[in-house]
Amino acid sequence: MLLNKDTQELEVKVVRGIDPIQEAKINRGEIETTRIKIGEGIAGKVAETKKPMIVNEVAKDATFKQSDTSNVNSIICMPLIAHDECIGVMNITNKLSGEKFKEEDVEFLSTLCGQAAITIYNAQLYHLAITDGLTQLHIHRYFEQRLHDEMLRGERKNHPVSLIMSDIDHFKKFNDTFGHQQGDIVLIYTAKIFRLNVREIDIACRYGGEEYAVILPETGLEEAVQVAERLRKKIEEYDFPGPNQGQTLKVNISLGVATFPLHAKTEVELVKAADAALYFSKEHGRNRVSVAGDVLKHVE
Ligand code: GH3
Ligand code: MG
Ligand code: MG
Repeated sequence: MLLNKDTQELEVKVVRGIDPIQEAKINRGEIETTRIKIGEGIAGKVAETKKPMIVNEVAKDATFKQSDTSNVNSIICMPLIAHDECIGVMNITNKLSGEKFKEEDVEFLSTLCGQAAITIYNAQLYHLAITDGLTQLHIHRYFEQRLHDEMLRGERKNHPVSLIMSDIDHFKKFNDTFGHQQGDIVLIYTAKIFRLNVREIDIACRYGGEEYAVILPETGLEEAVQVAERLRKKIEEYDFPGPNQGQTLKVNISLGVATFPLHAKTEVELVKAADAALYFSKEHGRNRVSVAGDVLKHVE
């Protein structure tokens, strides 16, 4: 369980050793799992005191949160401590041998949990560093690094890499009409639509203010255009919350798609090509997807 700093609750993030289907769903974050407040139950107490706890007869222990008693007979709860802060807890339940947990088990687990905590903490820091706070998309610098890496990889493996550039239509007017705060809400929702409608391996970034970029590794033009069109449509269909209760607002985006090596040999060229296609969409009615090659044909 990791501590959610905003809610001050422990949330189950990873489980091992239960029913495999249930386990996979929990580990992919598809199921709401129990949340435990600091100070509540065994895990909450451990997070509060930063001291490990053993309970060998859970059913008889008043500290254990009732809803959790299913399948748990005995438990060791270990705090995950990084730089003196408790960032979560690790619960180990029910020895396979049926024996009770002992102090020796705590000693062994302390070393393991100390290392795990530092590793998780560093991963959390890294995530923060590469993530835009408002949209939860990757930041521009991460975009540049990943585009560089993905194109190198594409070249080596002879795979295409596609790039989608997107920009919200008439967003200045939206801000002027409904206010900057309402504009920020649109950024949060549009970014979420992007995150939910690209594959796990695609890299969705906040390229600039209201400009998003998606890197699609190992993806040819046709597939990338389908993704872009899906994003355009999802946003067109979405009812964004307005300033008044029950009010909804409509937003559109324009997109440009370019593919390496079809339209560009370098990162700079690929960004330029996708940008030119985006500009073409803007010039030709907005709320549409354009492709780099078609733009060139138009120019010639
Ligand atoms: P176009 O259809 O040509 O894209 O018109 P536009 O008004 O959207 O023009 P442009 O993309 O050049 O303008 C970007 C506007 O986006 C300017 C600014 O008001 C708004 N914007 C940029 N970043 C943010 C942000 O973080 N929050 C909010 N609320 N608005 C932003
Ligand atoms: Mg813009
Ligand atoms: Mg715009």
